[in-house]
Amino acid sequence: MPSSVDMKPMSYTLGIESTAHTFSIGLCDDEGNPLPSTSAFVRPVKGGIHPREAADHHAENCQSLIEQLFAKHSLKSEDISAIAFSQGPGLGPCLRIGASVARTISTAWEVPLIGVNHCVAHIEIGRQECDCSDPVLLYVSGGNTQIIARLEGKYRVLGETLDIGIGNMLDKFAREQGIPFPGGPVIEKNALRWITANPNSSLDDFSLPYAVQGMDLAFSGVLTAALMMVAKGAPLDAVCWSLQEHVFAACVEVAERALAHTGKSELLLGGGVACNQKLRNMSSMMAEQRDGECFVPEKKYCIDNGSMIAVLGRLRLISGNEMNIEDSKINQYMRTDSAEITWS
Ligand code: AMP
Ligand code: MG
Repeated sequence: MPSSVDMKPMSYTLGIESTAHTFSIGLCDDEGNPLPSTSAFVRPVKGGIHPREAADHHAENCQSLIEQLFAKHSLKSEDISAIAFSQGPGLGPCLRIGASVARTISTAWEVPLIGVNHCVAHIEIGRQECDCSDPVLLYVSGGNTQIIARLEGKYRVLGETLDIGIGNMLDKFAREQGIPFPGGPVIEKNALRWITANPNSSLDDFSLPYAVQGMDLAFSGVLTAALMMVAKGAPLDAVCWSLQEHVFAACVEVAERALAHTGKSELLLGGGVACNQKLRNMSSMMAEQRDGECFVPEKKYCIDNGSMIAVLGRLRLISGNEMNIEDSKINQYMRTDSAEITWS
């Protein structure tokens, strides 16, 4: 065992997540292990997320989240050796708060700054937490729905939604039924209640559009049809069940095609909608039928969290990607394939 003189004190990378409704500050240690984040969520009582109001929420919560995080892990500013932040994609006003906080801390504490791609952070924390090596990621969140895989040195988007994210679709459907944000978990409960009470239910009786176009998906048509079905008197629980069956089948179909095209065998789920047990079951069944395996990180690392930003930030820094303040501008439309994978 090394003596106390030989032992190097642990240092941490701080990660700031602010792409949308979540403001989260997390950490990873100098071996890349994530520590639980502290987070605050915008929960609009009425309507969707307003980017400027969400940004105000993030700015208001920033200091207390950092204080809570430091208290939780008994840290001081000297323990932080780098600052990572979500540089994109996301809502401009929200991203700007995270980036400004990161630049300020980096300058004040004299530690390196690194901007990271939010979608790639979901992949890297998933790979690490689930111990899988080269997965196809089915990334299903509020604003994003993408199927991503590593090909020729970059993470490439093989398929994605052509309109709204799957989570936004679920939240909008729920909101119209008077269910507050986030609607996904309530839809899941309603759907389970329906199929438990009506095990012989047929999707033919609650048919909805199924929008898969090659490797891409679309959700606004199914949203309109589901809303109309409820308006015409179908039981809400039945429509929740049918909605989940249709949209999850579409996601799993595209994910399966991605596995087939790339020859990969690991499927990784990420994003808030990956908390859904029905989607997890359907994904596992598909992967097993192909002699593959499906991996899902713990819920705290499926949803947006600062620790995944810290994990990817550390990887980018140790592979030589330190950033100047001038290069730290946010990019609302940052593509998943915009940067080479330099870390593995
Ligand atoms: P994210 O954008 O990754 O932070 O995830 C938030 C989205 O995940 C929201 O649209 C939620 O409605 C959705 N979500 C969270 N839990 C579930 C669930 N159990 N089933 C379906 N969607 C969910
Ligand atoms: Mg996300």
